[in-house]
Amino acid sequence: MGRAYKVVILGGGVAAGYAALEFVKHGINRGDLCIISAESVPPYERPALSKGFLLPEGAVRLPAFHTCVGVGEERLTPKWYKEHGIELVLGTEIVAADLTRKTLLTAAMETISFQILIIATGARVLRLEEFGVTRADAQNIYYLRDVNDATKLLEAMILLKGGKAVVIGGGYIGMECAAALVTNGVPVTMVFPESHCMARLFTPQIATFYEDYYTSKGVVFIKGTVMSAFESNQNGKVAAVILKDGTRLPADLVVVGVGIRANTTLFEGQLVIEKGGIKVNGKMRTSNSSVYAVGDVAAFPLKMYGDVRRLEHVDHARKSAAHAVQAIMTPEKTSDYDYLPYFYSRVFTLSWQFFGDNVGDCIYFGDSTKGKFGAYWIDKCRVVGAFLEGGSKDEYSALALVARQRPITEDTEALAGQGIKFALSL
Ligand code: FAD
Ligand code: NDP
Repeated sequence: MGRAYKVVILGGGVAAGYAALEFVKHGINRGDLCIISAESVPPYERPALSKGFLLPEGAVRLPAFHTCVGVGEERLTPKWYKEHGIELVLGTEIVAADLTRKTLLTAAMETISFQILIIATGARVLRLEEFGVTRADAQNIYYLRDVNDATKLLEAMILLKGGKAVVIGGGYIGMECAAALVTNGVPVTMVFPESHCMARLFTPQIATFYEDYYTSKGVVFIKGTVMSAFESNQNGKVAAVILKDGTRLPADLVVVGVGIRANTTLFEGQLVIEKGGIKVNGKMRTSNSSVYAVGDVAAFPLKMYGDVRRLEHVDHARKSAAHAVQAIMTPEKTSDYDYLPYFYSRVFTLSWQFFGDNVGDCIYFGDSTKGKFGAYWIDKCRVVGAFLEGGSKDEYSALALVARQRPITEDTEALAGQGIKFALSL
């Protein structure tokens, strides 16, 4: 029999780090907690990888961005885990899980057993091979999920000198990596199937502001189409991206961000799966009472909206992790997870935040030509979502309150006129 722990956290990403801190706050005994991660470094703030990590000057490097610095809490270094008697089993992939026996099997065939398991396996990137794109194995095609990917992309970017990049995908990775490439002096063409960037969140009007800004920085957009193949040179390096209509885009480096899939495979057939994630209740507990799931991998009841969702954002990873630990350590004091969706991004000198739900009609306010504008989403006469570019801390907090309270509003013209003042006056 291998090692045994009271609690095992499977996955060493954002959620794992915040769960560890919460366990320590509750006072877990030395030797009771273990974190198993395929990555070779302790949990870190993943968002840094597409932002500060890729900057040409003043870039951030580990150990500076280990969790939980993202919310101004302690930075959990290897020393911190040691001091608190938390075992870090790094560079270790779990290849099988037996929830009846309460065991995990490592790739090196070691068995690790648990009394309570917290699944924090996050997600894996979708690869272009899965879309039937040919030559997707050429060199200099990069995906971005972990610090190894970010290091490889950074090295390729530095070596590129005079080369061109193509970015596939107009979501978060595409937008943030395109900005990083341009900031590093690399010319970028972006290709994506939708009619505008960030199509799942942005309206065409919001997207226009960002696309115009990117265009002013030299980014070229090719929208409404997908690529079908890569062309490589005799060294096996990517030479061009071929679009569906046959257009050839010369490329020396490609970054792909076409979405992710939650890492649920180990648990399929053992736990209830919904919306591509592991279904949990308001305590983040799965269909097995000894097993919890948090972060990107969890499909959880979004109490405010009365439905089940899986969210792929850092704020939820942090909060759901802390919530699961509270439910484990102080069940009598822990009510159901009541999350307000919160997404954000920072590119160039721009910065936006969004709270709530982007359903219903959109009412715009502010002045995009001055770099400060926003929008409210109105559904059934209630303000359910709020977006702001270029806001202050107080303004963003006010928007969060609006999305949480969902105030009734019938006069949308007045709302547009009041703009951010509406939120600040609540
Ligand atoms: P992860 O942080 O992905 O951690 C999962 C961990 O599980 C990894 O360590 C992985 O190696 C490990 N693992 C998986 N399977 C196994 C296995 N079988 N055995 C062992 N270990 C395993 N969100 C925002 O809100 N704002 C942002 O600005 C932002 N920027 C981002 C930038 C990048 C480049 C990326 C990739 C994501 C970004 N996100 C952002 C999303 C955010 O980082 C995720 O929502 C968050 O990391 C999810 O946390 P998690 O702990 O659930 O999963
Ligand atoms: P997203 O889901 O944000 O975006 C993927 C984009 O790629 C979508 O626009 C999608 O279109 C498009 N796409 C899908 N298939 C193709 C294709 N064959 N060719 C071209 N484009 C295609 O995922 P990302 O990969 O950008 O991000 C990965 C994860 O990282 C997400 O969980 C994201 O939340 C997270 N992340 C978050 C950040 C933040 O919050 N600031 C920053 C960076 C990453 P369609 O919608 O039509 O499928």
